[in-house]
Amino acid sequence: MPAFRVFAASIQQETNSLSVAVPTLTDFDRLTGDAAMAKLSLEPLDSPEVTLIPGTYAHAVPSGRLPRAVFDTLLGELLEALPADPDGIFLYLHGALDVEHYGSGDAEITRAVRERVGRDVKISVAMDFHANVSPVLIEHADIVCAYRTAPHVDMEETQRRGCTLLLELLRRGKSPAACLMHLPMLFTGDCVITENEPAKSLMMRQDAIQKETGALQITTCFGQPWVDTRWVGPSVTAYADNLETARDAAGRVAKLWWDARAEFRFLTETCMPEHAFDIARKSEKKPVFLSDSGDNTTAGAAGDRAGMLNLALTEQQRILIAGLTDAPAVEQAYRIGAGGRAEFTLGGTLDHTHADVCQGMFEVVSLGQMLGWYGEDAGRRALLRRGTVDVIVTENRCAVISPEIIRTGGADVFAYDAVVVKLGYLYPALAEIAPRAVFVMTEGESTARVETIRYQNVPLPVYPADPETRYDGIPALLKK
Ligand SMILES: [Zn+2]
Repeated sequence: MPAFRVFAASIQQETNSLSVAVPTLTDFDRLTGDAAMAKLSLEPLDSPEVTLIPGTYAHAVPSGRLPRAVFDTLLGELLEALPADPDGIFLYLHGALDVEHYGSGDAEITRAVRERVGRDVKISVAMDFHANVSPVLIEHADIVCAYRTAPHVDMEETQRRGCTLLLELLRRGKSPAACLMHLPMLFTGDCVITENEPAKSLMMRQDAIQKETGALQITTCFGQPWVDTRWVGPSVTAYADNLETARDAAGRVAKLWWDARAEFRFLTETCMPEHAFDIARKSEKKPVFLSDSGDNTTAGAAGDRAGMLNLALTEQQRILIAGLTDAPAVEQAYRIGAGGRAEFTLGGTLDHTHADVCQGMFEVVSLGQMLGWYGEDAGRRALLRRGTVDVIVTENRCAVISPEIIRTGGADVFAYDAVVVKLGYLYPALAEIAPRAVFVMTEGESTARVETIRYQNVPLPVYPADPETRYDGIPALLKK
């Protein structure tokens, strides 16, 4: 049996182009060879049919727009590992990477890989549900699939599906026709939870349409609204043996999502910041998890706004601020040592556009290393205390998405009445243990009030900012 030579690689960072946090090369966890492959779920490629050629892996916490030089380095490393004559390529990307000069980084990666290997090599891309899909990406990839869950619990499964689809294309020797539809609406991803309606039924109807039409794959990405780009927002891509089927399938699924537009709304309890701690105080279920949604590091915000901390300090409750980015404060805490006390200025070190800082006397309770969201070392941290309020201050921007990560911050969530996290909806590991979760509508770069964002590059109007927005049903791209 002739083996297919398959190259696999991953570059992932979700961008928030409104964020002032400028990513650097050191933010990326970069691996090559077997260590890179161990980060991916490539089980379908583990077959006698396939010779795997390891590529590179680069992953970083969401941040502001990626500087061109950092991107060029990451892409250069990927291209250097790419052999001249593979049969197939599997790329695991985020889909909402925005790069200085290039625009969509995901499109540029795919374009550059295609340019290198030529038209005949099959390229399969697996992405996040929150990808902002550019027609350039669809033009250069042979097939694209994405997570079907939000919050995401099918990351591994999606990569495996991307590999399986690649093998199918390699066996067929022919690429499918594609149709990409974009929808003129913008919501925060927090309005679309796939375990709940309407998204749950929409996914099921999408599957039914895929079966009915015989489409090879239908991929819905809901987009990520904090990237000011032409191709922001929800899209549907359908693949089939012929263009008519692809267009029919994509058109039908896109219309389903459009027709449900009035039903996308927050499914968790929401409140304004000034009411957050009242809710916690009166709650019988504790701890109450309060999402500082405007400063959500997993949506690329800086994570250095001290607004919720300032509100917490007026309280008598036991409150944990589970994550505040402030490298100088961590440095200061290390100089003082555990048990010491000093005047600290917390917050506002990355986001200089506002005055959201907190000043006051804090005790250094403990020092340690913070765990990253993918199990990596996320750098030094200090647990600071003032009155009944504890703050985990981190030298790097952290994604505090599980009780284990909070534990490495030196705190146990169950010791508090309220836990403030710089997230949107809670990630599964926190949602599981949270007796109650409230979405706090704080201001910031990841504001949940998308209608307040002033876009420069997004074609207007968009729903729901303009409720009269119409959808014309014209494909953004058709590919034979
Ligand atoms: Zn996502």
